[in-house]
Amino acid sequence: MAALIIRSLSQTTRRGVQVTSVRFANKMMADPLEHATGLEKQELMAKAAGNDNPFDMRVYKRISGDQTNPTVVPSFYEKRLVGCICEEDATCINWMWLEKGDKKRCECGYWFQLADAKPMV
Ligand SMILES: [Zn+2]
Repeated sequence: MAALIIRSLSQTTRRGVQVTSVRFANKMMADPLEHATGLEKQELMAKAAGNDNPFDMRVYKRISGDQTNPTVVPSFYEKRLVGCICEEDATCINWMWLEKGDKKRCECGYWFQLADAKPMV
């Protein structure tokens, strides 16, 4: 009798969880645009419309940069924090606040100016 009980316990413990993977042939993952909300959704919609840089986060190259021809930095706001890599092999960035309407000179001698940025599509 005791052997019979032990055998039945071992049978129940052997049962494992069976997992069956189901794969739909025509639909693997949902479109990320359907799940996105807020800024992420705006970014995905702008990228779908052809704007690869909707928040204008790219790095701008300095131009000649004298006072009459400053490097123009677009901004959606009245002030923007701008970093200047003063020398090509510099290990730090020189940060400064730019305000609309004012030109500002970096320590390296280059001039910068804020301009109105185009609103996101
Ligand atoms: Zn600089």
